[in-house]
Amino acid sequence: MTEPAEEIQAQETPEQDDRPVDLKKIQSILSSNSGARMRSWLDICARCGLCADSCFFYLANDKDPKLSPAYKVKSTVGEMYKRKGRVDRKFLREAYEVLWGQCTMCRRCSMFCPFGIDMAAMIGVGRAVCTSQGILPAGLAKAVENIRETGNQMAVSQEDWLETCEWMAEEYGEEIAGLTIPVDKKGVKYMFTVNPREPAFYPQDVGMMAQILHVAEESWTVPSTGWDSTNLAMFAANKEMAAYPVKLMYDKALELGVEQILVTECGHAYRSAAFEGPYFLGLPGGKPPLPVKHSVQLFWEYIVRDGRIKIDPEKKVTVPVTVQDPCNQSRSAGLSQMLRELSQALCADFRDMNPNREFNHCCGGGGGFIPMGAEFKKRRMISGKIKAEQIKATGAKIIIVPCHNCFDQITDLNKEYELGLKVVSFKELICESMIIPEKFIPKEEDEEPASQPGDDGGEE
Ligand code: SF4
Ligand code: SF4
Repeated sequence: MTEPAEEIQAQETPEQDDRPVDLKKIQSILSSNSGARMRSWLDICARCGLCADSCFFYLANDKDPKLSPAYKVKSTVGEMYKRKGRVDRKFLREAYEVLWGQCTMCRRCSMFCPFGIDMAAMIGVGRAVCTSQGILPAGLAKAVENIRETGNQMAVSQEDWLETCEWMAEEYGEEIAGLTIPVDKKGVKYMFTVNPREPAFYPQDVGMMAQILHVAEESWTVPSTGWDSTNLAMFAANKEMAAYPVKLMYDKALELGVEQILVTECGHAYRSAAFEGPYFLGLPGGKPPLPVKHSVQLFWEYIVRDGRIKIDPEKKVTVPVTVQDPCNQSRSAGLSQMLRELSQALCADFRDMNPNREFNHCCGGGGGFIPMGAEFKKRRMISGKIKAEQIKATGAKIIIVPCHNCFDQITDLNKEYELGLKVVSFKELICESMIIPEKFIPKEEDEEPASQPGDDGGEE
């Protein structure tokens, strides 16, 4: 297994506040991260304020001018450049509050800036500077350490991952005859990768995905290693560590000779695997070594484009339903039309939020906010007010949320704002309403199915 490049730096404690910062490192980060482009953005910002109303932090907090995107960037990253990196630890502690606690890097503000200034990219540079000095949220620091030690952000052991697959194959195979969860099968079409939350807390997600892939008679496997497509090191702005899980995933896919990497219903995992990963690894052309597909794209192909999976019209959802546009799917990856066509294929009364698609508001749980934990929960709930209001206005009783981080945030908002919603994934609705072909309906005499560790390729 490839070793990660550097040790994780623990978050500082207050007693360590007077440690000198590593100026050389800070200056190197400021100049190496497209320094010229950053300085040019800072110079051309006309302070016009057009970006302010686009930011949910600003809107949810009585339009506090200090929460306007331009101010947040200017007071943190702008100061870092202005002082040529000569900032102290106290300054970085204050910047930490803004860089992680007041921006989810959702990129909505950039859609409204007449100069297309990419605030999220600049916030990312600020985060990288803080992280380089050990100043980052404890939840992210822990996740990064887990990645370094185990290759996945929740430190799920390989044994637990494989046992989850075996268990889910048995459990979900009771409803679908012949269902298996192949492990390390070589030469198949898809290598299915997940969010570690699935083996850790939501094993049913793995079971439901197996049902869908089996009914579609897909050629697929799960990998025994490199199965975590999420990337919390990306939100810690630790580029070296962000490269590590991506490398594990790409290497495994190449070793197995699969055609494509399939990513679970998670927004930032797709962004990392399809778009950011190649840059973390310095791959030529900025392209992954093989195509990467999000589950929503696959579901859309199965149900909307090809009819490979048929939905029982009698089982279509009849209550009002809306869909969440995860920023990393709709704004950054262009999947918003698929989200709608899929929703309409599954639901008779689909209702869009307003604004929507690439103009959606962030749920308030992105950019690493959810794993940042309790320290940030209160502000997560306050700033999530905009999303809660958007959802409420649709009158929906069900919300489809094809992203793990959005799922947690909207589940919390559902309680906080008493929205009375059922929060579901696409795979949950598909499993409830797809027509199971006769040959997959279990007969009395059918044996219990099982996963197949070592199938074809063997296990590492
Ligand atoms: S990236 Fe999103 S959260 Fe950050 S300042 Fe812009 S709109 Fe606000
Ligand atoms: S919209 Fe663009 S130019 Fe205007 S204040 Fe915001 S970042 Fe600056």
